[in-house]
Amino acid sequence: MYRINANFLKYPGAYLFLQVAKKREAFAAAHPDRRIISLGVGDVTLPLAPAVVSAMEAAVREMGRRETFRGYPPTPGYPFLKEKILAGDFAPYGVHLEPEEIFINDGAKGDLGNLGDILSGDDVIAVCNPTYPAYVDSNVVYGRCGEYDAGKGQWSRVIYLPCVKENGFVPELPAERPDVLYLCFPNNPTGAAITRAQLQRFVDYALENGCLIVYDAAYEGFIESPDVPHTVYECAGAKRCAIEVRSFSKTAGFTGCRLGYMAIPMELEADGVKLNALWRQRLAVKSNGVPYVIQRGGEAVYSPEGRAQTRAQIAYYKKNAAAIRDGLRQAGYEAFGGTDSPYVWLRTPGGRSAWEFFDLLLERANVVGTPGSGFGPSGEGYFRLTGFGTWEDTAEALDRIRSL
Ligand code: PLP
Repeated sequence: MYRINANFLKYPGAYLFLQVAKKREAFAAAHPDRRIISLGVGDVTLPLAPAVVSAMEAAVREMGRRETFRGYPPTPGYPFLKEKILAGDFAPYGVHLEPEEIFINDGAKGDLGNLGDILSGDDVIAVCNPTYPAYVDSNVVYGRCGEYDAGKGQWSRVIYLPCVKENGFVPELPAERPDVLYLCFPNNPTGAAITRAQLQRFVDYALENGCLIVYDAAYEGFIESPDVPHTVYECAGAKRCAIEVRSFSKTAGFTGCRLGYMAIPMELEADGVKLNALWRQRLAVKSNGVPYVIQRGGEAVYSPEGRAQTRAQIAYYKKNAAAIRDGLRQAGYEAFGGTDSPYVWLRTPGGRSAWEFFDLLLERANVVGTPGSGFGPSGEGYFRLTGFGTWEDTAEALDRIRSL
């Protein structure tokens, strides 16, 4: 009899957002007269920018003519998009990367998980706690995380770095040495940003200890504070220890289009092998690239109009997030984030657990958020709201929360 990858059976319970959706659906079925507002899920709501739409339309027409039709794309991505990325996302911060160091993909989540293909099954990972769940979940599949302890809400082989109010939601350096260190800033779920000096400490630690940093900058577009780095490569030595992961999802509304990229500098080497070459090999084995039309849409994000239009979208979400944070503070809540991020992280009032507060908010204010404990045990006692709703819904949800 053939066998399955039994690591898939190790996952505890339902995925966080499925649990949230189930509770919401049950409440809606029981109270059809109530209008539920969701400030829970991290998906965007504004339509694609007009410059992106025009570029994709033009690309579709090219695909429909014999003279301009294109077949398989270059697996690591089209040079026209890579050039824009290098000039738009790195050069302004004094960072020089080569086109061969950029790998276009169909969004950050897939390749965050796929990276596990080129790492040893014995590598020990470290993550922030709370964390975006994909870092741990994707490593479970490879058997890298050990066993799940339901009591602790943790995997036995994973190193967890608490991010709580007391450390400003930026972790301390690991007490135990990990092989791979996942860092995400601006952070999902806490909305916290990291300063250049703080990130440099992690880079120095990784260089001294032979660790690989996987730096997830999916929310880079939301950064406004001058001391917050836009890329890990602003830190000295980072090209020797860090892979950077980027996404067009939140910065340009591409959640439904699927586009992102990874930077794998040539300097990164382990066991005498360049990670860049290994990843190229992995791509050759498992991928045929990202659609031409989508890459042309991504290119348009870097045009003057595309920039202005996507910046306006980000400003809209940030206005929502700032209103949530400030409104909550005025109502006596402890609220964090919402400055360099679309996320607001609040302390649940009255010592309630995150799920208790979820139920209270759903039942009494008909507002859906995300319980912090779903992102890891240090998220207990916290709750995530997002600025991705409409301004009208955000304002109404706030009024309802304030009147609780
Ligand atoms: N990284 C972080 C921190 C995220 O919050 C998300 C999505 O919510 C992703 C990556 C996934 O991005 P993508 O849509 O590009 O797969």
